[in-house]
Parts: sequence; C-alpha cells; structure tokens
Amino acid sequence: MPLIVQKFGGTSVADSQKILAAARKAVRAQQEGNRVVMVVSAMGKNTDVLVDLAHEITDSPPAREMDMLLSTGEQVSVALMAMAIESLGCKAISFTGAQIGIRTDSTHTKARIHSISTDRMRKALDGGKIVIAAGFQGTDEDQNITTLGRGGSDTTAVALAAVLGADACEIFTDVDGVYTTDPRALPEARRVRQVSYDEMLELASLGAGVMHSRSIEFAKKFSVPIHVRSSFSDQPGTIITDRPEAQGQAVSGATLVKNEARVTVLGVPDKPGTSLALFSKIAAQNISVDMIVQNVGAEARADISFTVPRDELVATMQAVEAAAAELGAEDFSRDENVSKISVVGLGMATQTGVAQKMFRALSEAGVNIQMITTSEIKISVLVGRDQATAALRAVHRAFELEKEPGSAGGAVTAEPARAANANDIVARLRGNMVARLQGMEDLTIDDIALDETQARVTITGVPDVPGLAAEVFERIAAGNIFVDMIVQSLGRAGHANLSFTVPQAHLDRALAVSRETSARLGCGPVTSAPKVAKLSVSGIGMRSHTDVAIRMFRALAAEGINVAMINTSEVRVNVVVDGAAGPKGLECLTKAFADALV
Ligand code: ADP
Ligand code: ASP
Ligand code: MG
Repeated sequence: MPLIVQKFGGTSVADSQKILAAARKAVRAQQEGNRVVMVVSAMGKNTDVLVDLAHEITDSPPAREMDMLLSTGEQVSVALMAMAIESLGCKAISFTGAQIGIRTDSTHTKARIHSISTDRMRKALDGGKIVIAAGFQGTDEDQNITTLGRGGSDTTAVALAAVLGADACEIFTDVDGVYTTDPRALPEARRVRQVSYDEMLELASLGAGVMHSRSIEFAKKFSVPIHVRSSFSDQPGTIITDRPEAQGQAVSGATLVKNEARVTVLGVPDKPGTSLALFSKIAAQNISVDMIVQNVGAEARADISFTVPRDELVATMQAVEAAAAELGAEDFSRDENVSKISVVGLGMATQTGVAQKMFRALSEAGVNIQMITTSEIKISVLVGRDQATAALRAVHRAFELEKEPGSAGGAVTAEPARAANANDIVARLRGNMVARLQGMEDLTIDDIALDETQARVTITGVPDVPGLAAEVFERIAAGNIFVDMIVQSLGRAGHANLSFTVPQAHLDRALAVSRETSARLGCGPVTSAPKVAKLSVSGIGMRSHTDVAIRMFRALAAEGINVAMINTSEVRVNVVVDGAAGPKGLECLTKAFADALV
C-alpha cells in the first residue's frame, strides 16, 4: 500500500477549524488507499510567542531550555490533530520526536538528525492508524529534547519520507507552491510547476523561506520528490525533484535577504593561513559566514569582506577584533544596512551574459552593487537595504520571471519539463538509499576536482558607483568570453576590486577589453594571472556544515598554498590558488575530506 507523508505548517493548523480541515485531507488520503504520516508544526505564531516569552525573562536563555520550551508548541498540535482525526471516525496516534526515535546531535536550537527508528510508526500504520508526528524536534543521546532550527518541520517531514521510503511527501502551506520570488515581496511573482533540488537548495538558503533548506538536502540525498501545495485548496502546487522546470533556463528564481551585515578586514597579510585564522574564530562562535570575498592582494596585503546575518553582527565583531589584532590587520569596517539579492538557475552554468544582464538591470534601477559573488548556479549581490525591494523587482523583471519559461522572451525553447514520476524515482534510488540512511544529515562529499584551464583578471580601483559592473561585463560578453567566477568587494576609499576568471585561451581578449574599459571609466591598473588552479569540493550540506570552507583553508594553509579567490554555494566550495599549486592542492583536499567522501 502506498505511503504518503503530509506536513502542515503553522498557518495551516492555526485554529481548530484549520486543524479539522487538515485532518480531513489526511483522512481522504487514507480513504484513497494510502498509509498516512502527518507532520505538524506549532499552531500559528505559537513558536514566536514562546521565543518572545523567553526573552521577557532573560536576554540569553540557555539553549537547552529553549528547546524544552519550543518543543511544546508542536506537542499541542499533534494531540489536537489526533483528536480531530478520531472525531472524523478514523484511528490516529500522536508522537513526539522522542517517541518516534528521532535521534539528533546535541547542538541545541539547531540540532542535526543522526537517525530515526521506524518500528513504532510502522506498527501504528499496520494497525490502520494515521500517524501524527511532531515536527522540528528530536532528542539527543542523553534524552535531552532538541530542535532542528526555525522552520525545521519541513526537515522532519522529508526525513520521515526518506526513512519510510514514502511514495510522496506533501508540504501543505499558506502559498500554493514555490514562486519565482516571495509573492509577499513581489506580487508579480509566478508559481513554478517544478524546480530542481539544486535550485531549491540555493533558493532556500538564499532567502526563499517557503522551505527549510536542510529539508532539501535530505530530499536530494535520498531522492524524495516533494510537492509544495496550498492547505486551502486542492490545486496542484510545485514539484521539487531532480529536474528543472525547463531545460536551459538561465534564471529560475530570485531571492532577497533583507537583514545582512557586511564586515571588511583591511590590509591583512596576503599569505597562507590568513583566511583560516579569521574564519575559524568566527565559526567558533557558531556563526555561519555567507558571501566571502578576498581582494587579490597589493603589496602583500589583502582585504577580506564577508557577510553575516545582521543579528549576529555583535558576536561576529568580537571575533573579528580578536582576529584582526592577531593578524596585524590595518583596519576593519562594517555596514549593518545591507541586503542580499540573488538569482538562481541551472542554465547559467553554461550560458554567457547572465551576470551582465543582472548588473545592467540593477544599474538602470540606480542600485549600487557593493559586493558580488557567484557560483555555478547563482549570482549574489549586496546592496543598500533602502534599495533592496527595487533591486529585487528590477532583477525579477530583467529575467522575465513573471512569464512562463518559453512563452515569452524566446530564450528558452528546450525540451518540455516532465512532471516527476514519484514512483519511478523512488524505485530507481531505493537500492542505494539504504546505505546512505545511516549518515542522515552528515556531510557528504561526492567530488573533489581540479580545473587548470582558467586565468584570472583583476580590475583594481573600480569607483563605487552604479553601472560599473554592468559596463565591464557587457564588454566582456560582447567579446564572447565565458566568465566563470566573479568576485567584487569594497576596498579602501570607496574603491572596489573586481576579479573574474576566464578560460586561458580568452585571457588576451579579456585583458584588452578590461584595460580599455578601465581606462575609460577611470579605474586603476588591471592585473592578471595567466594560469590559476580552481579547486572544488562538491557534495551535499556544504554550507549548513559551516566548517567545510575552514577545513579547506586549513588543509591548503598546511601545504603553504595561498587562496586568492573563494566562492561558496550549497553544493560546492571553489577556491582559486596559484596555477602551480593545483596538483598539491588537490592531493591535500582529498586527504582532508577522506572521511566524508562517498
Ligand atoms: P509554513 O508555516 O507552512 O511552514 P512558511 O511561512 O514557513 O510556512 O513558508 C511560507 C511562506 O514563504 C509564504 O507565505 C511566502 O511568503 C514565503 N516565501 C518566501 N519565498 C517564497 C517563494 N519563493 N515561494 C513561495 N513562498 C515564499
Ligand atoms: N514551529 C517551528 C517554527 O516556527 C518549526 C516549523 O514551523 O517548521 O520555526
Ligand atoms: Mg516553514
């Protein structure tokens, strides 16, 4: 008999009527011949209310007690849901995380799942009951209650679907699917029919709050197809699977993170170990660093900029001050009024001109770009918070995200998207799933690679005004030059450095264009490296396991290899090092990640 997991978020169980409506959906699914597991969140804004209560008592509630408190929200919902189902004449049983055997590590308030035992759930299902599991919680080895981080019920649902080998995992929420951007921020956003795991991973971690990003790590690792849909209708929503909505689409979604802060450490020694010293101090505070940009050094000094969530700035600055003193940095600065705008799409990995289109749209909207980072399938820029929504709108419009792919603009005409066939995918992958279930949320590395085909160009002294990045990359794209990594950061005296990599064969052309553009726009000298080595570590959980970049820095520093550029995404961390250091770098990274390689 097919098994289905249905998850209902806070708004979907906000009052007794909504709980009854959700119960009816589960009962209907059972009557249609499915075994049903429900995962429910705390009612409405109950978790926020509990968080506020804790902060009325103290500024720094102990994390263990926070978990004890927050887990009660879900306990209320599961009990009420079980009563609702019984009242409809069906059998149901509610379980807390501990009762189902969701075993986690002990990182209170952001615990990771180690294992889930299915015996009790299976027994109840065999007895014809609808199983109702509390989302977002588990217990550690010593039976302490833990929670998985805000929004973590999605992760419970997908994890249960994975261990039970469910045929479908439905996420019922207050929107009718995944949109091209948050429909609350931009009404013109469009619901997508389908989105790939890799795109959804990036979108979720870059601000698309509709799914907890760790739930997508699970979905990808265990090939669980997800259906995100409305609690308040029966319309189909969005399928998250291993395929994108349309092949070849450069951009499939845009995101905004409003409350970011930028920190720049100026004039640090440009030598191996510098990034390690800085970022390991920050990681020790359990803060995850986001955009990291290192300016290629001048006079053996480099500037490192990065962003953190604004509410972690105070703790970050304590770590930065200590690191700056230790490293003999010249100065450091910060800006707490910045926001991050990103675009995501599988197609951009193979197309030229995507970055340029984004930068042009921002320039035309009068938005100044403070920082740029890219990865294979995303481009992120940092802008002033007062311009954030205008920036999002401009970018959304430039890529015509409000239109069905292929229906306008003419850019996308590839093979039609095929709706995922859940049974197909699950059957195909069940074989190798069993072996992977042990690790659950452990870091999985599937590739460590060296690319020795690229060269670097850096334009120094770029004036910090709107339109410059657009100008540079339009000229580059006009020369048919494929740009891979792009980083831009704010340096001294309001000037930025703009670095990018191109195929070695394109270096001369890229340099000619860059020198000409630099002279015309009043930038500083253009420098280059004819051969750089790009080292990549790919896998699942690259960013939620905050120590991946640190492990890379540590391994490279131990071999005396200096990191010139870095970019990170959910599925990959890339570093650019000196061309001659490639093979040695590959060897030491392979050793450093041996335990996580699958
Ligand atoms: P739940 O309580 O059901 O888990 P959430 O509030 O966590 O619901 O997620 C749903 C919300 O996510 C929507 O109301 C919407 O405003 C927001 N959201 C952000 N980005 C997106 C997006 N790209 N597509 C759809 N919804 C989004
Ligand atoms: N109730 C928790 C929260 O609000 C978990 C969830 O809803 O996913 O974050
Ligand atoms: Mg949610």
